[in-house]
Amino acid sequence: MNQLPTSVNHIGIAVRSINKALSFYEQNLHLKVEKIVEVPTQKVRVAFIPIGDCKLELLEPLTEDSPVAKFIEKRGEGLHHIAYSVVNIEKRLEQLQNEGIKLINEKPVIGAGGHPIAFLHPSNASGVLTELCEEPEKDD
Ligand code: ZN
Repeated sequence: MNQLPTSVNHIGIAVRSINKALSFYEQNLHLKVEKIVEVPTQKVRVAFIPIGDCKLELLEPLTEDSPVAKFIEKRGEGLHHIAYSVVNIEKRLEQLQNEGIKLINEKPVIGAGGHPIAFLHPSNASGVLTELCEEPEKDD
């Protein structure tokens, strides 16, 4: 059975400098950073800013060959990806692949938040890089 994504998990924003970018979110929107972590496998530093059930993730490249550095070089700073919560990521990836959707990760990898994630190619979604993020099922 196909399960729909349950919510928007987070929104990824590519920035040159987390420290510079944070001033707007902290001083003007009065949001609070939960934590800042480095994800060496993806060559980024990530600032998590919770808002409601969602989060903003500011992504700062750690190296010049980081995918986020390449993104900024090509398209400038700004919206990088939208991540949807799903319950069973492996099943969803299989289903999407059967439907002809182009995947970047055919198998889930562990994302910055410590959960299994996978990216779908932006060409599927009018240029928006799309991420699936597996969240443990919540009890009502
Ligand atoms: Zn993400």
